[in-house]
Amino acid sequence: MITTKPYRVLLYYKYVPIENPEELAQEHLAFCKELELKGRILIAPEGINGTVSGTVEQTEKYMDEMKKDPRFADMVYKIDEADGHAFKKMHVRPKKELVTLRLEDDINPLELTGEYLEPKEFFERMQQEDTIVLDARNDYEYDLGHFRGAIRPDIKNFRELPEWVRENKEILEGKKILTYCTGGIRCEKFSGWLKKEGFEDVAQLHGGIVTYGKDPEVQGELWDGQCYVFDERIAVPVNQKEHVVVGRDYFTGEPCERYVNCANPECNKKILLSEESEHKHLRSCSHECRVHPRNRYIAEHGLTEEEWQERVQQLNAQQ
Ligand SMILES: [Zn+2]
Repeated sequence: MITTKPYRVLLYYKYVPIENPEELAQEHLAFCKELELKGRILIAPEGINGTVSGTVEQTEKYMDEMKKDPRFADMVYKIDEADGHAFKKMHVRPKKELVTLRLEDDINPLELTGEYLEPKEFFERMQQEDTIVLDARNDYEYDLGHFRGAIRPDIKNFRELPEWVRENKEILEGKKILTYCTGGIRCEKFSGWLKKEGFEDVAQLHGGIVTYGKDPEVQGELWDGQCYVFDERIAVPVNQKEHVVVGRDYFTGEPCERYVNCANPECNKKILLSEESEHKHLRSCSHECRVHPRNRYIAEHGLTEEEWQERVQQLNAQQ
């Protein structure tokens, strides 16, 4: 691989039994800190899931060392070049599960999961009849970018997905179901759950959107918008052939791919906002958030109480 940027972001996971997640998490944190990596890693009895950033050398060393552990020897890394770190700190956390579906009894993807499709095959099957493409991510992830024609479950969190499926069964019944997520980890479990739920024809995008965008043949084709990622980059490109913007400004409805968090810390909702809308609406999703005493926009811009009230009144008068 020819590297042009000094940093890298690694995205990876592996479902593999881990006997002592707490202990491993402690050791692993020390190891990552020694390498001066930054990122977020989860370790659970069912496996490992991480995103870390570091220099080319640091990330290379990390992968080399991980290969020496038989549990992680064949782990697949999605590698993005970057200009700097994608995180501020290094966290390694022990968890009960890698991804949470809140199921009565959890799915073990090593025992039950949907058919794995490589990017080329996913691309072809997406265009077949009687096929539906179901996004397994959250609504705000879908809103920034998704496969053309994919179904958008109305969920804020992965654990709401089973209920959404049960309530919308008629959309999926009798169809060939293709499901996808960012790196593939959620679909391993979700597609297994779909099968357990009685859907027969279930397949998943192996390696997720990130792999699909890097595939030399499909090059992200039929993806619209960008891919939401859970680090400081927030959005990464997928489709190398064309870029169709699907994100819409929360207030104006104009094309927009700029995510910000609502300035009310108790709301913190992710909203797509142009810079203009951000200033006009005090980076707040609603009147309630705009007048919230802890509004961060007000503090950041040093607005006085009078200025604040005036801006809110102006806005209310316009609406
Ligand atoms: Zn809000």
